Amino acid sequence: TTDLLSVKNLVTAFRTADGEVSAVRGVSFSIKEGETLCVVGESGCGKSITSLSVMGLLPSNGFIKEGSIEFKDRHLNRLSPEELRKVRGKDISMIFQEPMTALNPVLTIGYQLREPLILHHKLNKSKAHIQGIELLKQVGIPYPEKRMKQYPHELSGGMRQRVMIAISLACHPQLLIADEPTTALDVTIQAQILDLIQDLKDKLGMGVMMITHDMGVVAEVADRVMVMYAGEKVEEGSVESIFENPQHPYTKGLLNSVPNLDEPDFELEAIPGSLPNINEEINGCRFHPRCPYAMEKCAVQIPKDVELPGDHRVKCWLQEVDEGADNRQKIVHT
Ligand code: SF4
Ligand code: MG
Repeated sequence: TTDLLSVKNLVTAFRTADGEVSAVRGVSFSIKEGETLCVVGESGCGKSITSLSVMGLLPSNGFIKEGSIEFKDRHLNRLSPEELRKVRGKDISMIFQEPMTALNPVLTIGYQLREPLILHHKLNKSKAHIQGIELLKQVGIPYPEKRMKQYPHELSGGMRQRVMIAISLACHPQLLIADEPTTALDVTIQAQILDLIQDLKDKLGMGVMMITHDMGVVAEVADRVMVMYAGEKVEEGSVESIFENPQHPYTKGLLNSVPNLDEPDFELEAIPGSLPNINEEINGCRFHPRCPYAMEKCAVQIPKDVELPGDHRVKCWLQEVDEGADNRQKIVHT
């Protein structure tokens, strides 16, 4: 299958009072039709900024400094804001963690659900209404007929989140970008929503970019996994290879980390220290201050991106040390 989305060497920066800082530092990845890529890493690692860059929804002081974002045969980073808005409404949908930013407070749930169906599927109002009710049922909303007449503020947070997901899926996007979509929901609803996304992926060949810190979600939905640390991609591979054969020390730490239920974001029990500030200068490997395996050269030289068999890539000097020890085919990108 062909690539739906292809991101090459993305550098996203922000203008701040302290000058320009890069939140995403040369990240490349692609998503095929019917494929789910999970992007994982600690809060602040650049995973949300990566998705906002793709959608053209960066805050006003943020900008794409380098790289290209291709969706099918269109360069998203060269489209006008107007053209990009069209792509967002129709071909690419995004689900955020905070639903109030995506729902219009002055329009009923019914109106907001019918609109994309009328617009993109050319349904008439009554058909769109029936379809809207169906979508609300699918995301686990009780009394959907009544909900259709209500406004966002009349619903609980979890309910609003599900409405937003229903709206995003209404136009059958080819690509769904979901940023921690189920974090705030209870486990039953979370499972229902993940099932619904999987379903659409299978039925419609939708590509999914799922941003999450929950390795349980990753295990359940991912085909491929991209691990980010301090604005960089440090490892990428199939879900099987990442779980069974993780190579980067940070990935190993993520897999060993125990989610702390009291915290909104997880804590890395296995890796002491915290993510550097985005304007902090770090020489060599950006993970070296926290890495239990750090060697001398890790503090001075940037590790190369090494390709392992099975479409698995990792950015760590340990791969070089290993080189003599086995004869796996590796391609080193400098
Ligand atoms: Fe650790 Fe060095 Fe690998 Fe960075 S390059 S992850 S510091 S071993
Ligand atoms: Mg985030």
